[in-house]
Amino acid sequence: MINASLKQLSSQLAGKKISSVELTQLYLDRIAALNPELNAYVTLNPETSLAQARAADVRLAQGKGAALTGIPIAQKDIFCAQGWRTTCGSRMLENFVAPYDAHVISQFNNAGAVNLGKTNMDEFAMGSSNETSYFGAVKNPWNHKAVPGGSSGGTAAAVAARLCAAATGTDTGGSIRQPAALCGISGLKPTYGVVSRYGMIAFASSLDQAGPMARSAEDLALLLNVMAGFDERDSTSLQRETEDYARDLAKPLNGLRIGLPKEFFAAGLSADVGAAVEAAIAEYKKLGATVVDISLPNSRLSIPVYYVLAPAEASSNLSRFDGVRYGYRAPEYSDLTDMYEKSRAQGFGAEVKRRIMIGTYVLSHGYYDAYYLQAQKIRRLIAQDFVEAYKYCDVIMGPTSPTTAFNLGEKGDDPVQMYLSDIYTIAVNLAGLPGMSIPCGLGTNGMPVGLQIIGNYFDEARMLNVAHQYQLATDWHQKAPAGVNSDK
Ligand code: GLN
Repeated sequence: MINASLKQLSSQLAGKKISSVELTQLYLDRIAALNPELNAYVTLNPETSLAQARAADVRLAQGKGAALTGIPIAQKDIFCAQGWRTTCGSRMLENFVAPYDAHVISQFNNAGAVNLGKTNMDEFAMGSSNETSYFGAVKNPWNHKAVPGGSSGGTAAAVAARLCAAATGTDTGGSIRQPAALCGISGLKPTYGVVSRYGMIAFASSLDQAGPMARSAEDLALLLNVMAGFDERDSTSLQRETEDYARDLAKPLNGLRIGLPKEFFAAGLSADVGAAVEAAIAEYKKLGATVVDISLPNSRLSIPVYYVLAPAEASSNLSRFDGVRYGYRAPEYSDLTDMYEKSRAQGFGAEVKRRIMIGTYVLSHGYYDAYYLQAQKIRRLIAQDFVEAYKYCDVIMGPTSPTTAFNLGEKGDDPVQMYLSDIYTIAVNLAGLPGMSIPCGLGTNGMPVGLQIIGNYFDEARMLNVAHQYQLATDWHQKAPAGVNSDK
């Protein structure tokens, strides 16, 4: 059961082979057994989850089930869910119980899915290893000494360890794709504006986008069908016709033009990751695709540009956490200013403070033109590179991450090394494009390698088709970490 696809689970539920309550209980039991070691979940409400499962069973019995009715889904702890503690991985929100549902959460609720629990994450989604979480690091299920990636590390570990049927993540600079790669699962960051950010705690609003994380592209399509759609409560949500993201899954890939950016295969890419990605490209050629060499000349500037723009936006977004309106308040202080200072000093962790300081600096008078404005201009050039590239190809492929999962503690003291983890993912966010990662091999250390597939704007259905056809021909996405694959 734990290796069944969402489509299979859905038909088992509809055919009464299993009830949602039984399925939910199966996952809750697995979580009870494995989570104390993995730390993938920060909050569980078994009673609430089981009540949702009972309601789903009633709906299924009435024959009113939809594709995800009764299926237990884990939610990244960045989404407000009514009645659920919603921490964003921070002490600042350690005791915050959300009074309303994020759009993504209400979409899953309307579909009849079960909220299985809230997954661990880097504090305010800032990180690439899940080590900045106030609730402690998450372990990679493939090797407990290694990081799961971040910031959606709890989600990636939960999906890989079969502690949920599927889950959600968010991606500001790579936080869906990089942990998906490091944990051997599939993840999709949609085009900016496709999924509403309402109720999703903001990090860098011009980059943040929610998306699904699961074991296959087919599962991702079903999840995106639920997550996507116009929402007037998010001013950047796009008003578009409803799409069925699974509609093209079966299309053959004959004639598909794959662009390979030379910048993604240069120095800094580890040999084993490069070899696995090359092997995946060879498989695509067998499936009928052709390969085109392309260049994204400005992508080398994406990390410096991101680390001006994302902190700038974060410093503004996080100013609301002042110990007054909500959030942590220091127990002792002398006056109002002292209360603000102490609350923020104690409520935020080191990486969040670093970003707030960088952001405040680049936005300050005298530096605004030199840093912020300059970064905005280069952001446009980076986006323009993709417009040019898509004249010659349909999708772009390359590695998701330069290495497989690194060890816990390995990069904690060196922020710049940590920031380099997202060298291949960040340009996609700066351009607002959709990107995904699917498993395509194992590195020399036996850890998963991710293939990144970047699409043109709103080309999610094609990307899912491209990923699904590969997954029909190969079985990398079915590999599971040792010890978690014993089916019940
Ligand atoms: N690792 C990047 C950062 O630390 C991206 C995080 C994300 O996508 N949320 O900002």
